Amino acid sequence: MSDFTTYHALAEENGKKTVPPTINVPEQPATPLTHSAAEAPKTAGYAPPQAYPLSVGSPGVAPPRSAGFPSNAYNLQHANMPQGQLPAGILSPYPHGFMSPQQGQFTPTSPSPIGSLDAQMNNLNVGGTTRKKKDRHAYHTLDQGTGSSQAFNGIPQGSTNPSEFLNASPMPSPFLSQPVTPAMNQFPAAAGTFVSATKGRTGAATVDTSGTSGRVDPDQIPSIPRARDQAALHYQTHDYKTMEQHLPPPSSIPYNAIDQGNSSPKYARLTLNNIPHTSEALNSTALPLGLVIQPLAALSSGEQPVPVLDFGERGPPRCSRCRTYVNPFMSFRSGGNKFVCNMCTFPNDVPSDYFAPTDHAGNRIDRDQRPELNQGTVEFLVPKEFWTREPVPMRHVFVIDVTQEAVNRGFLEAFCDGILNALYGEITQEDANEDGSVPEHLRAIPPGSKVAFITYDKEAHFYSCSPGLLQPQMLVMSEMEDPFVPIGSDSLFCDPYESRALITSLLNQLPKIFSAVRNPEPALLPVLDAAMSSLVDTGGKIICSLSALPTWGPGRLFRRDDSKLHGIDTEKKLFQTEHSGWKRTADKMVELGVGVDFFIASPGGVYMDLATIGHISATTGGEVFHFPNWHGPRDNLKLSAEVKHIVTRETGYQAVMKVRCSNGLQISTYQGNFKQQSSVSDLEFGTIDADKTIGVMFSYDGKLDPRLDAHFQCALLYTTASGERRVRCINTVASVSEGGAELMRHVDQDAVVCVIAKEAAMRMTERNLKEIRHSITEKTIDILASYRKGYSSDHPPGQLVLPENLKEFSMFTLGMLKCRAFKAGAEPSDRRTQVMRTIRSGSALTTSLLLYPRIFSLHDLPPTSGFPDPNTEQLVIPAHLRASFSRIQEGGAYLVSDGQTTLIWLHSHVSPALLEDLFGPGFTTLQSLQADLNELPILQTHLNAQARNLLAYWNSHLGSRKQTIQLARQGLDGAEYEFARLLVEDRNAEAQSYVDWLVHVHRGVQMDLAGQRKRGQTAQDKEDGEQTLANLRSMGW
Ligand SMILES: [Zn+2]
Repeated sequence: MSDFTTYHALAEENGKKTVPPTINVPEQPATPLTHSAAEAPKTAGYAPPQAYPLSVGSPGVAPPRSAGFPSNAYNLQHANMPQGQLPAGILSPYPHGFMSPQQGQFTPTSPSPIGSLDAQMNNLNVGGTTRKKKDRHAYHTLDQGTGSSQAFNGIPQGSTNPSEFLNASPMPSPFLSQPVTPAMNQFPAAAGTFVSATKGRTGAATVDTSGTSGRVDPDQIPSIPRARDQAALHYQTHDYKTMEQHLPPPSSIPYNAIDQGNSSPKYARLTLNNIPHTSEALNSTALPLGLVIQPLAALSSGEQPVPVLDFGERGPPRCSRCRTYVNPFMSFRSGGNKFVCNMCTFPNDVPSDYFAPTDHAGNRIDRDQRPELNQGTVEFLVPKEFWTREPVPMRHVFVIDVTQEAVNRGFLEAFCDGILNALYGEITQEDANEDGSVPEHLRAIPPGSKVAFITYDKEAHFYSCSPGLLQPQMLVMSEMEDPFVPIGSDSLFCDPYESRALITSLLNQLPKIFSAVRNPEPALLPVLDAAMSSLVDTGGKIICSLSALPTWGPGRLFRRDDSKLHGIDTEKKLFQTEHSGWKRTADKMVELGVGVDFFIASPGGVYMDLATIGHISATTGGEVFHFPNWHGPRDNLKLSAEVKHIVTRETGYQAVMKVRCSNGLQISTYQGNFKQQSSVSDLEFGTIDADKTIGVMFSYDGKLDPRLDAHFQCALLYTTASGERRVRCINTVASVSEGGAELMRHVDQDAVVCVIAKEAAMRMTERNLKEIRHSITEKTIDILASYRKGYSSDHPPGQLVLPENLKEFSMFTLGMLKCRAFKAGAEPSDRRTQVMRTIRSGSALTTSLLLYPRIFSLHDLPPTSGFPDPNTEQLVIPAHLRASFSRIQEGGAYLVSDGQTTLIWLHSHVSPALLEDLFGPGFTTLQSLQADLNELPILQTHLNAQARNLLAYWNSHLGSRKQTIQLARQGLDGAEYEFARLLVEDRNAEAQSYVDWLVHVHRGVQMDLAGQRKRGQTAQDKEDGEQTLANLRSMGW
């Protein structure tokens, strides 16, 4: 019970492990509900809400249930304190310049008085029982403030460069000379005031910068958390029906989709669900036409699995001209004798054995019985012509680093534990069949799948765990110049359940064995070559750990990163590799159908050349899990959960993907982690899994007919982990128009954000970061300016008009400018590279969370939050908070996650009672908590159950990174910097606040409308003329 199942202990009594998971029912008695007494603490169970003594002042009183609970279970300390006597405590989490979390504990430099914070938060009703009701109105006006705000009123003064805010590094700020609280610099004088505005006529939100007085009301600007919460509430009780509805839910919320012939948005999201008929019409919107495809996406428990269809030796029917697979949008004519292709309109003969007559409406009479004619996503078993070799159940090779660092830092032990947990974690002795075998549903990998184990330092060690052996056998291969596998495939690979005792013994012994050897330098590339050659006949997956820069043998790497290279044009070389050996191995792996996932620990934050090592994953369709400041006691739980996730998630191998689209459109570029032989080739993957996502950008090679729909079909040919060769077809349809309001009503904001982020990430190896940021800014302005010109010319000129479906778009692009990949200021190249590749291959969900985190406050949760509503049986989800320090209350406790890391941030004056309820008896001060805490204990307190339920809710809807918690105690933990970084609405040393950003974007829009907007403003542009940014904007976007 060493991973997330802990969170689920309360809920698993019913045997349910599906989504929505982990719900602790308030009405249940305080009895242990765990399914296994041996695995769960006896304290597991629920205790009804208790009274909490107030931290300061009078003791608490148990709230009478019938009278309703106060929304603040924990009174905040400072609410009871006279202003003048407040202890100094609010510290700026913002460093002067860059400082990474691994640079040690946060040291307070200049505490600021709490009174100012309180003043800043005067509309938050701090310490009160309820928050000010937020304006749910979608229409906003930003009035121009006094002071320096004239600069933002329309055309900027003088020769102000509209992009200087973003490209300056760091941004010039009068506040930089001293530490300030984010709350203090959140809304500088330059910003105007938001007041509620009259409803616009175009279904748009407006931000007015022409007003004259007042101060900013940040509640009035579009809020990502509010948009997510509203949608989440709706989709708790409604399904998304793919033909009846045309605008998918936000990717960041859980929902059930019903496939009505158009694929679920979980598999494919179009940026535009209504497509303009010509290139000119599209260009006039500046919106990208793209498709975000996650072909093996995981489904919710309430959704229908993808049907698998067998058409025997002849395979599924296809268009004889363009090879599109049969799908619900092919029309049958001539009484059912012909089918007309929905892509190319070619009339094909229906094969005689596929014939069925049509009814009076022209539909085949067997349509309802044929999934390929009524489902948007189906899989076809494919005949031998689709094979390059006999498909077999997938093989996994675990390649384990046993060098000195791995042993010393506990990484080796944690990785071995993670593998054991992944393979056997779900199984108890009682589960086994009579003959000792493991029932299929408990296997982590399908029957027939095999595993192998290789360890390495400066030599490689191969193990045989064949069932007949008394103990595992090891063979050493030390010829790194010419690596080979010294052991036969039959000995190397074994069924993990037949050889469970030997594998368990081996993995338990490895840390001890190699603690006596302690080689400091790993030789990675030759070992990968050897692992690849063990898969030469089958293909498969390599799962590799690494804890030191591989400095031994062929392909040895050295420290390339140098802060002198940061911020200059050559920095981009740090994000890619020129090493021919690593490139060659990556290409060869794709050819063989081999993909690699890495678990890389950087003890002490050392450089690992993720650009070069991760190139293998990026090319083969794998993934890198990076622990930038590995600390065993804290990170082992996350490592274990992630190893388990990659072993058990849906994974296919030897994959090829092709996307087809209607006549009139063509594919311009692909975005993601894959191999493409040439710009027109299909995409190849060694492996592809449930989390991998590909962006496809389209351009016009003609016109679309507004009377017809536009169609897209993604065909993924792959071998399943169970050894079947299949094609998964994902069919997507959009309406076509001549542009206009219809188009704007069907824009999918998440897909737009996702393809823009992916495009920016794809360009990181070609353009410098300043240009990338400039392009993101320009694209934001382009889209909003185009909207202003095309759709909202009747608004007063002082208003920034935000399309209804792109209301939060500007905040997402600001999140892009602040994310680790693209942000200004110093950042180790490993961290940038990691986020770059995460964005390239990440889902719309991953991108959405990465750009704007989720935040809950724990200290004022309503009593019903985090428990199922008795009427709907759905978990009651409290409102998520906006990512700004102005929302942080004195004495508060917060859960924050960007989908990569989850923090619990605790204010220095947090109530001792809250700490005890959350962490257990005796934990009454921040100092008493263990710094490396990685999960909440299971306690019989209301708050503890709420927090665990809410964490489980987040975890039920995540990308590939598993979430354990990390403490960020104010004034104590380095993770406080990460917390500050996640407050993306605030100004920091590198970029503007949300308010300033909107004003900045508006100024760009106004310049554009006045015909005064400059384009191509970098030195590079001047050299290259139209070749750079203009192309950068138009090519992909
Ligand atoms: Zn066709």
